[in-house]
Amino acid sequence: MIRPEATPMRHLDPKERTKGFAEVAVGYTPDEAVREAERCLQCKRPSCVEGCPAGNDIPGFIARIREGDFRGAIRVLKETTVLPAVCGRVCPHEVQCQGHCVLAKKFDPVQIGALERFVADWEYENGVELPEVGSPTGFRVAVVGSGPAGIGCAAFLRRLGHDVVMFEALQEAGGVLLYGIPEFRLPHRIVRTEIRNLRELGVEIHTNVVVGRSLALEDLFAEGFHAVFLGTGAEKPQFMGIPGEELAGVYSANELLMRVNLFNAHLFPEYDTPLRVGRVGGVVGGGNTAIDAARVALRLGAERVMILYRRTEAEMPAFSAEVHEAREEGVEFHFLVNPVRFIGEGGRVVAAECVRMRLGEPDSSGRRRPIPIEGSNVTIPLDTVVMAIGTRPDPLITQTEEGFRLTRWGTIETDGDGYTGVEGVFAGGDVVTGPATVVAAMAAGRRAAHAIDRYFRERQGGRPRR
Ligand SMILES: Cc1cc2nc3c(=O)[nH]c(=O)nc-3n(C[C@H](O)[C@H](O)[C@H](O)COP(=O)(O)OP(=O)(O)OC[C@H]3O[C@@H](n4cnc5c(N)ncnc54)[C@H](O)[C@@H]3O)c2cc1C
Repeated sequence: MIRPEATPMRHLDPKERTKGFAEVAVGYTPDEAVREAERCLQCKRPSCVEGCPAGNDIPGFIARIREGDFRGAIRVLKETTVLPAVCGRVCPHEVQCQGHCVLAKKFDPVQIGALERFVADWEYENGVELPEVGSPTGFRVAVVGSGPAGIGCAAFLRRLGHDVVMFEALQEAGGVLLYGIPEFRLPHRIVRTEIRNLRELGVEIHTNVVVGRSLALEDLFAEGFHAVFLGTGAEKPQFMGIPGEELAGVYSANELLMRVNLFNAHLFPEYDTPLRVGRVGGVVGGGNTAIDAARVALRLGAERVMILYRRTEAEMPAFSAEVHEAREEGVEFHFLVNPVRFIGEGGRVVAAECVRMRLGEPDSSGRRRPIPIEGSNVTIPLDTVVMAIGTRPDPLITQTEEGFRLTRWGTIETDGDGYTGVEGVFAGGDVVTGPATVVAAMAAGRRAAHAIDRYFRERQGGRPRR
C-alpha cells in the first residue's frame, strides 16, 4: 500500500526565520529519506525523468536510497548533474520531476527534490567523491561566467579530459547562485563547496575578469584557447521608464540582492552606500526575484513589504512554494496594480502612485493582458521600492565582438547544442534562453561541453593545433 501523503520536511518557524538569513527548509533525516523513497513506484517508463531538464535517473537514485545505499544514490545523480545540492533546494520540482510523478494524479508526488537534496547533503558530510577526469586531450577551453551554465560546462569538459580556465567578472565565483538567490533558500556554503569541487577537478578560476572589457575573445584565442563557452547569464535589470525611478530608495532587485549577498551592505551602516529599506517596502513584479527581494526586505527590518503585481496570482511566474513561504512570513500581495510614477521628497522615494488593472485577452505569452483602469489611481506611501520586472543579457560581449546572431531580447542564438556560429564560440544558460532556471542552465552547459568535444574531434581532427 502506497502512503498517499509525502513525508513532510521540517521548516523553521515563520516568525523566527525572518529575524535572520538561516536556511528555511531543514532537510530530511536518513530515516525520513528512506521512508519517502519507499513511496516511489519505480515506474518502468518514468515520466519524472521526462520532467527533469537534466534527465537525471530519478528512479535509479531513489532505489538506492530505499536500500540505504546513499553513496550509490549520489553516484547515480552525478552521472548527469553537477549541482544536486543546489537543484535539490531551488528547482521548481512541483512543475518539473514531481509535476510528472504518476502518484501526483491521486496523491502527493514523491518528494524528489527533497531526496536529491538529502543525498547531496549526505555526501557533503561523508566525503565528496569527485568524478573521474578524462585523459588529457591537450585542448583548452575558456569558460566565461561562473553560474550554473559555466559550472556545468566546465565540469563536463574536465570529465572529457579538456583543460578549462573559467573567467568571472565579479570577485567571487557562483553567478546568481551566490549573488542572487538569498541564503535562506541556498546557503553560500553550498555554492562555495561546489566551486571548491570544481577547482579540485582541475578548473582554474580567475575572478575580476570582465571578458569583452579586460580581455577580448580574440585575446583568449591568441592565448591558446581552442574554444570559448559563454555562460554570462541575463542579469541586466529592466526598468519601467516611469517618472521617479531615479529617486534614492528605488533599487533594482539585482542591486538589492547583490548588495546583501555579496557585499553584506546591510551590516555596515557606516558604508558610503549603506542599505536601509525603512519601514515599508514595495516590490514591483511577480517572479522568483520579486519574492526573494520581498523576503530579504523583511529580514532587513521592514515592518511591511508589499508585492505589487499587475496581473493576478494565477499569472505569477514565481514558484508556488516560494509564494507560500513568503505569505507565511507576512509578505503582502497586491494584485492588479501597476506603478505609474514614484513620488519623492528631498530626492528620496516616499510613495508610489499606482493604477488599478483588469485582465483582458491573453497576450503572446499566453497570459491574460493587464489593462489599466482609467481614473483608478491610488497612492501608496513607502520608503523603498524594488524593481523586479525582468532582466536581459548584458550586451557587452555581443556589442564588442562581431558575428553573433541575437534575438530581439538580446539573447544569443545558437544551434541548440550551444554553437553560436562564431568560430569556436559556444554559449548556454540564461544568455541564450533569457531568465530561466538553474537546472536548465546547468544542462545547457553540459550539452555545450559535449558539443565542444565533438567540435574538437570533427573540425580540429581530435588534436589541438599549436
Ligand atoms: C533572485 C533570483 C532567484 C532565482 N531563483 C531561482 C530558483 O529558485 N530556482 C531556479 O531554478 N532558478 C532561479 N533563478 C534563475 C537562475 O538563478 C538562473 O536561471 C541561472 O543562475 C542562470 O545561470 P547562468 O549560468 O546562465 O547565469 P548566471 O547565474 O547569471 O551566471 C552568469 C555569470 O557570468 C558572469 N559574467 C557576466 N558577464 C561576464 C563577462 N563579460 N565576463 C566575465 N563574467 C561575466 C556574471 O557575473 C555571473 O557570475 C533565480 C534568479 C534570480 C535572479
